Amino acid sequence: MGIIEAKNLVFEYIRRDEEGNVEGITRAVDEVNLDIRQGDFVAILGHNGSGKSTLAKHINAIHYPTEGTVWVDGKDTSDDANLWEIRQEAGMVFQNPDNQIIGQVVEEDVGFGPENLGVPTAEIWERVEESLKAVGMYEFRKHSPNKLSGGQKQRVSIAGVIAMHPKCIVLDEPTAMLDPNGRKEVIRAVRALNDVERITIILITHYMEEIIHADRVFVMDKGKIAMEGTPREIFSQVEKLKDLRLDVPQVTLLAHELGKSGLDIPKGILTCEELAAALGLPKKK
Ligand code: ADP
Ligand code: MG
Repeated sequence: MGIIEAKNLVFEYIRRDEEGNVEGITRAVDEVNLDIRQGDFVAILGHNGSGKSTLAKHINAIHYPTEGTVWVDGKDTSDDANLWEIRQEAGMVFQNPDNQIIGQVVEEDVGFGPENLGVPTAEIWERVEESLKAVGMYEFRKHSPNKLSGGQKQRVSIAGVIAMHPKCIVLDEPTAMLDPNGRKEVIRAVRALNDVERITIILITHYMEEIIHADRVFVMDKGKIAMEGTPREIFSQVEKLKDLRLDVPQVTLLAHELGKSGLDIPKGILTCEELAAALGLPKKK
């Protein structure tokens, strides 16, 4: 069994008026099946309202299925007895780092999670040190989080999650509020956690360049998984991505247009280097 599995997952939001009468039902996740293995780096794409956040909140047992089942490390998320184990094994990072940081000092903030889990004090400090090092924020351990940049704050929130020793981290648009530099810092840290620590990563984003390194990509549309494949397989289908209202990376688009105009260029070009090589351009000396 994978670290995260979903079988025929359906989730419906029920809208009620002021008197509590049901006004309508939104099916936000519609018959989704997932099988994510330990150590995978999975990216989830999809335009606004396609159901990404609702799906993500099932992995952390914030939402329970309306129909179907979700298992985290073999544990059914709808069983309350599993709640704390699931919350510890599947950490979650959200869009706005300001809502996730509560400590006055970086190292304190990172220590809150393990402290709540009842980890002995000496081990808390070890975990804080190792987690801050893993995201490249150790030198800021005595700083006030308020003074950090958005990318640095987000890396501190990620360290707070790692300090709980999760098997899996779900990041719901962690870079949406960051500048390009902050985005790069965060993605680099996330990749290192996957490469070095073998933590399973589920990255929700709408920045296409952030998914190039994923092992697998899911594209959501109207609550369903509309596409699934490696980044290259996904980016080979430019027209379909456009239909799903997703922005294709410029270099992929350019390669696609050059291909359509008759040049012999492979499908699914992901980087400038690949395009240059396909065009036979020499590297800069
Ligand atoms: P995404 O993260 O891809 O933008 P969401 O999971 O937030 O998508 O939303 C999926 C659908 O569920 C949308 O139609 C959205 O309007 C609806 N939705 C999200 N949150 C709520 C809520 N708290 N109450 C009612 N409907 C919601
Ligand atoms: Mg969302």
